[in-house]
Amino acid sequence: MPPPTDRQDTMTQPVLFLSHGSPMTALGGDELTQIWSILASRLKTPAAILVVSAHWTTRLPILSGSAQPETIHDFGGFPEELYQLRYPAPGAPALAQRIKQQLTAAGIATGIDAGRGLDHGAWVPLRTLFPAADIPVLQLSVQPERCARHHFALGAALAPLADDNILLIASGHLTHNLGEYMRGKPRAAETIAFRDWVHSRLLAGDSEALFDWPQDAPHANFAHPTPEHFLPLFVALGAAGPEHTTEWLGGGWVGQVLAADNYRFAQVV
Ligand code: ZN
Repeated sequence: MPPPTDRQDTMTQPVLFLSHGSPMTALGGDELTQIWSILASRLKTPAAILVVSAHWTTRLPILSGSAQPETIHDFGGFPEELYQLRYPAPGAPALAQRIKQQLTAAGIATGIDAGRGLDHGAWVPLRTLFPAADIPVLQLSVQPERCARHHFALGAALAPLADDNILLIASGHLTHNLGEYMRGKPRAAETIAFRDWVHSRLLAGDSEALFDWPQDAPHANFAHPTPEHFLPLFVALGAAGPEHTTEWLGGGWVGQVLAADNYRFAQVV
């Protein structure tokens, strides 16, 4: 269950790390949509939204530059009604150009894909957070061949966006062993140990203690056989700035297997 809160976001936009659940979460009524509904009531309306999604992986960072991004149904074997869902938010091609310049100035080579739409890592939470789909959305890809420090640097270069009322959402999963999920096993002790290790360091505000997670975290390879669902967390931590507050928004276990914790980070200025 999400913790109760009556705090409202006021000044700059926070940075979010969301565990986006299964595509079935898009149909609503589960614990994640409950957490996101409470979060939505606290967010001030952003001018635009930048989503760093685990479901877009590239060698170099790429921004989506479409003016009208299509809804990508990047999953198979789910009920037909999921494939009928659309999230028709406008894109933000001019903002994509501006962010590209910002990243290039920070020494990070970045491209733009003018044809890229919104994958379910973006539109599943956005359907609950901003159901009117009237705020421009663009995406930034994840580089699974690169380390946590690269993604942290990417986030640090994006930190000024919060002052321009742009909301950054890093969308992944705190643990993501799909093999265990498909076998329908109850969550393993290894998964719980990894989740607790990460969670305690996040709450302590100790981002650096997470950087060498493949070596340092217990059962890292079990929790994340591939890293793309964990790496967005480091973009969020970089964007949150060296001094930030961390708030756990709630979580749960998707399919009783995958840790689905959600966090809100806010720059301390
Ligand atoms: Zn996913």
